Parts: sequence; C-alpha cells; structure tokens
Amino acid sequence: MSNKHLNVVLLGPPGSGKGTQAELLRDRLGFVHYSTGEVFRDHIKRQTTVGLEVQEYVTSGKLVPDEVVLEAANAFVSEHVLDKVVFDGFPRTIPQAEGLDRVLEAHEQKVDYCVLIDLEDDEVVRRLSARRQCRKCNRIFNLTFSPPKSEGVCDACGGELYQREDDREETIRDRLAVYHEQTEPLVEYYRDRFVLERVDGAIGRDRVFAELRKLLVPDDED
Ligand code: AMP
Repeated sequence: MSNKHLNVVLLGPPGSGKGTQAELLRDRLGFVHYSTGEVFRDHIKRQTTVGLEVQEYVTSGKLVPDEVVLEAANAFVSEHVLDKVVFDGFPRTIPQAEGLDRVLEAHEQKVDYCVLIDLEDDEVVRRLSARRQCRKCNRIFNLTFSPPKSEGVCDACGGELYQREDDREETIRDRLAVYHEQTEPLVEYYRDRFVLERVDGAIGRDRVFAELRKLLVPDDED
C-alpha cells in the first residue's frame, strides 16, 4: 500500500455511515480520520473555550459557524500534509469547502475524491434513533444492525454506551433539514470539480466499504 497523500471527503446525511466508514479507512487502510463532530464533542466533554462556544449548536443539531470550523480545520490540514486524510462531516457548507480548497492549495494539494454516501430521509431517522456510541472510545453501534454483545456496554473497551443528545427524533429532523439546505449543494460543488463519486448507503457497511476500497486503493490485492 502506498503512502502517497490523498484527501477524501465523505459527504452524506447524518447517519449515512460516514463515521463508520471513516473508522474503517483509518483502521484498515491507514487514513487519518478527521471528524469535526468528534473534535467538537471532545471539546464539549472537556469544557474548553471552544467547547463552551459550540455546545449549543452541537446539542441542537445546528451548524457551528464557518469561522470556528475553518480555524480548527486549517490547523489540522497544515499538520497532516503528508498523510492520507478522510474528512468526515467537513466541509458542510460552500464557504467551508472553499476554505478547505484554499488551505489545501497552499500546500499544493486538493480534494482528490468526494464520496457521497446517499441515504433516504426515513432510513436516516430509523438508523439514528437506534445509534449508540461509546463514551470512552467513541465506537459506534446500532441497536438494529450491529448491537453490542452485552446491552449498554462497548465490545471494544467495556465503556458505557450512550445516545447522542442530537440523535433524538426531534433533533434528527432538524439536522436533516440543515443537511438538505446547507450541505447538499456540495454535491454540485464537487461534481463541477470532477471529483464526485456516489455510493448507495443502503447496501450496508461492508459493501459500502468494498466500494470505497475499490475506488481509493484500486491496486490493493484483497
Ligand atoms: P457529526 O458528528 O458530524 O454528526 O456532527 C455533530 C454536530 O457537530 C453537527 O450537528 C454540528 O452541530 C457540529 N458540526 C460538525 N461538523 C460541522 C461542520 N463541518 N460545520 C458546522 N458544524 C459542524
């Protein structure tokens, strides 16, 4: 497997499996996983200045202002110019996409692929209401598709599983509206730049990953 840097943006509604696929890309293909959502949740947990600033947005499912997101992202990109990076949940608006292009350009790089993991709204609601996450290692479970072996306990580290506050049904609908209004225009943005690929998110975790693998490491043997 080559170590050549690669910048991959995963796009898709909440619950389409971006986080799960990004973890697989990290664990199996050596990508660095950048999730703005995880970064913010970590800040909130530690009650840092950034955490206090973004808390209200994150728990209510609204987008954190672009300046705050871009400041964090620029620092990250500059530290990872040599890596293969998977961007999960970033960018989420056109100004963020433009900001990402600018910082990558400064390092003579670009977004190499934007993969849209597509999923219908009703399926999003069904999946997110059943999603649980580990408080300790952040691993994601789904009570329907991939339940933990023992209820409420993480298979990987024994940590406690919880439901994200923004995964409650009322908030899920708001997040979907935000996605359609502010994030979906990115499909066209990346299509215009000839880097857009689409995968059907309904085919299941392993088949989605097989598609990603085929696309991102076409020479890989297995
Ligand atoms: P996620 O874990 O990607 O679903 O993100 C959870 C929440 O974090 C979102 O609902 C937003 O409040 C915030 N967030 C994450 N990424 C971004 C982003 N790129 N732009 C604005 N807000 C974000």
